[in-house]
Order: sequence, then C-alpha cells, then structure tokens
Amino acid sequence: MRFCFDTKQFTDQAINPDKLAVVGENGEITWTEFESRVTDFCTFFKSKGWDQLKFPVILYGHKQVEMIVAVYALMQLEVPYIPADVIYPKDRVESIKQISKTNLIINCSDEELDFQDVSILSFRNNAFELSQEAPVILAEEKPTDPLVYLIFTSGSTGEPKGVQISTQAVRDFTQWMREDFGFKPHDVFINIAVLSFDLSVYELMSFGAIGATLLLNSKTVSENPDLLMDRVQKYNGTIWVSTPSFSFIYSRIDEVSRLDSIRYFLFCGELLPHSLAKVLVEKFPKAIVYNTYGPTEATVATTMIEIDAAILDKHPILPVGRSKPRSRILIDQDEIVIVGKNVSLGYLNRPDLNVEKFITIEGERGFKTGDQGYLEDEVLFFKGRNDDQVKLHGFRIELNEITSVLNDLDFVLQAETIPLKRNGEVKKIVSLIQLKTGVDESKDWKAEILEGLNSKLPYYMIPSDFKFIDKMPLNQNGKADKKMLEQFYLAKS
Ligand code: AMP
Repeated sequence: MRFCFDTKQFTDQAINPDKLAVVGENGEITWTEFESRVTDFCTFFKSKGWDQLKFPVILYGHKQVEMIVAVYALMQLEVPYIPADVIYPKDRVESIKQISKTNLIINCSDEELDFQDVSILSFRNNAFELSQEAPVILAEEKPTDPLVYLIFTSGSTGEPKGVQISTQAVRDFTQWMREDFGFKPHDVFINIAVLSFDLSVYELMSFGAIGATLLLNSKTVSENPDLLMDRVQKYNGTIWVSTPSFSFIYSRIDEVSRLDSIRYFLFCGELLPHSLAKVLVEKFPKAIVYNTYGPTEATVATTMIEIDAAILDKHPILPVGRSKPRSRILIDQDEIVIVGKNVSLGYLNRPDLNVEKFITIEGERGFKTGDQGYLEDEVLFFKGRNDDQVKLHGFRIELNEITSVLNDLDFVLQAETIPLKRNGEVKKIVSLIQLKTGVDESKDWKAEILEGLNSKLPYYMIPSDFKFIDKMPLNQNGKADKKMLEQFYLAKS
C-alpha cells in the first residue's frame, strides 16, 4: 500500500496493509490504520466545512503519529499546512500565525495553547476536540496548483519567512524519490529533523510515496545516541536521513553492528566532510552514501550523488551532485540558480523579496540561492554563501534575524552578530552589543538579553556568547565592520 501523489489517494491496497506505516513518539500504526485515520480526519474536517479554508493551518506538535495523519489528510483535502514544532517559542508561532493569517491551529501536543482569534483543534489519541472556536474564512475557489505546505525559515528582517511549496513541486520531488534512489517498500526511513525543517520532508513524503515505514524520533531520542541506536535496531531502520552535523555515528563508529540494518545514508543541508563520508563508505560496505544539495525554496533537494571510493579518491572536497530530472542548475556570476517545477511559488506575502530571489527563465520558475558554486561535467560543487546566512550544527540561520531581535531590546543601542569559523565551517555565533548611554552598567544585562532572545528565537539561534562594546566600529560604507568585531571578540576572549 502507498499514497499516490497524483491522485492524492491510497493505492495498491492489496500489498502488505498490515505493515507499519508510522512509528511515532506516542505509538505506531499500520498502513490500514493510517488510511482509515486519514479518512476519519477528512470526514471531520469536511463536517466543519473546513475543506475550503482560505488560509493555511498551523500544525503544532512533536513527532506524534497524529501529525503524520494530519499531513496526509490535509494533502487530500488540499488544505495547506505550516508545521510548527514545539521547539519554537510561542512568540515565533504567534508571528507565523500573523504572517499566514491562519484561522486554525491543529494541536497534536499535550500542551494547552493560548492564542487569540483562532480555532484550536486538539488532535490527540486519534480524537478531535475543539478547545477554542473562532470564525474561519473560506476561499471562493481552489488554485490550480494548490499549496501543500509552507515552511518558515530564518529571515534577515527579524521575522521568519514562509516558503510556499505547491502540489506540483511535491509531486515532482516524490517522483524523483521513487525513481532514482533505489528505495523499496520494505525500507524504514529514520527521521531525526523536526517537521518544521524541510529536511524532514525527505522522509515525510517519501515513505508515503514508496509505501515504506516512517520511524519518527523525538528530540530526546535523537539527542541520545544510545536511545536512537536502540530504536533503529528495534525497528530495523534502513534509511538514515540527516545533516552531516548530526552524524554522531562518526564518534560511535565502532558500534556499527548496532546500525547494520542501514542500507542508505542520505545527507543534505551542509558540506559533507570527506572524512565522514570515507568512514561510512569503509565501515558500511553494504550501504550507499548519498550527498544531496538544495534549499527549502526548491523542495528539499535538487542535486544528488552517490559517494563511493572512486569519488572519495578523486575529490578532497566532495561534490553535491547532478541535478534531478526535470530541473536545471545554472551558474550566474558564481551564484547557483535552480530552475524547475521544484522551485517554490515564493515567500508568503513578501513581494519585495520575491522580486529579488525568484525569477522566470524560459517560462520556468527559478530561484537565486545565494549559494556560490561551479559545475564540472554537470556535477555541482558548493563553495559557500554570498550573504549573511549560515549553517550552524545543521540549522539555517540568518544572522540579521538575531541582530534585529537584539536591536529591538530597549536597552540596546546597536548590536551585530558574527560567525566564528574554523576551516570554513561555522563553529559558533556571537553577538557584540553596544548598550544605550545611561543604562545601569552594574545590571546583569546578559541575563536580560538571553530572556529577550529566548522568547523570540528557537534555541539553535541563540548566540553562544555576548560581548559589550563601547562603540560599534564602522567600515567605509558606514556599516558595522565585521572583521574588526571578530578581532575585538577574539582579543577579549
Ligand atoms: P535549508 O533551506 O535549511 O535546506 O538550507 C539550504 C542551504 O544549505 C543551501 O542554500 C546551502 O547553503 C546549504 N546546503 C544544502 N545542502 C548542502 C550540501 N550538500 N553541501 C553544502 N551546503 C549545503
């Protein structure tokens, strides 16, 4: 049994309906149960008249089976969803709510949510309870290429930006997953990323398209190598999906026997270190290591390459691969441009940014990634960024978003956030802050700053250190001089 992304229906019912479809942090369901729960969800939604909602719904929770049921039901209903994991502070969910104008939050967690002017539907233990009801706005007609989901990524203006991904893009992505990776229905996708990151879309959509099993791992499990390895062993996980940063495997490599069910290592999101790929290729001779590349704005990934001994020998810096079918990679003055159906319809309600980043090339959608790279025999190599976006521990962060939150604190005159790198890799981010004149210098401003940041930003965006400066050094253009700031920080540390 599997989910057909063309018809948005369950299909091939005769094949293995009793196989596990989803293992969540709160239970497991077979494919038969999965289909019937999706149907129940759709029936409930239609009974409320919500299948014609004008605005996307927020799906709140953390790795519950219900989240996956809701995703597939919402796809059938053609109601777009925004995944919001419990790791997000409430203020961030509130700004997503305001940007998206959502009328409905589906809460799969045990938390009681407190948001104004929205309906809140609790969906737990397969039961629906409307804990708050507010009017909903209905759409007059459905678009020809309805959105499936919106993922909010870090935004340089201080607010996250919503990347809109359409049905056509998801269909194109799942077709690639079915045809070119060798995955089979007996595979078990090991999920680590939370659903609000686009990396999770790999396993979230692929397990359905292939008719495989999805093994969700909570943050607590993912952060504890022993718990994670136990779960992989228990459920015979076969496809590992993560950023290279999340490869604790590296340090636990002598325990490979605990992971010998793995047939594929699928990486995306950051430069795959040569040393990591080499260890995996040597220690897991039966497994295939894939390096893939792409931003959220182009639906998970656009290029792929199998890293084997020959590639390792030839390339000290690993390539990120060839373009998937039906998409193209262009290099425009060093910048990687992605063209194809997988490109997003744009950022939600951000016409200014859309003009800058999304283009049309020969009638197709294109995205200017901000990544620098080059092609060698159609194989893409990644060289870095042309802006202030960084990856830290696998998380995508706009440094200006942190700086904006700092600048909004009423005791801060001016702040700047800089990355500290080793061998080209960001190791930590730190902020330098000039306080307003007249503020009480004996006060514990670091504690105040942390409180301010924690209320707005997820934990992975909090700088690991702060330093106070008397005056912001400026460069010739009148902007903060980041080189000077780095020197200043290192001298003071
Ligand atoms: P995200 O939208 O979180 O998936 O982050 C996308 C960004 O991660 C890209 O624009 C690149 O800067 C970086 N990235 C993604 N995949 C790779 C890769 N395989 N190697 C190097 N950088 C990557």
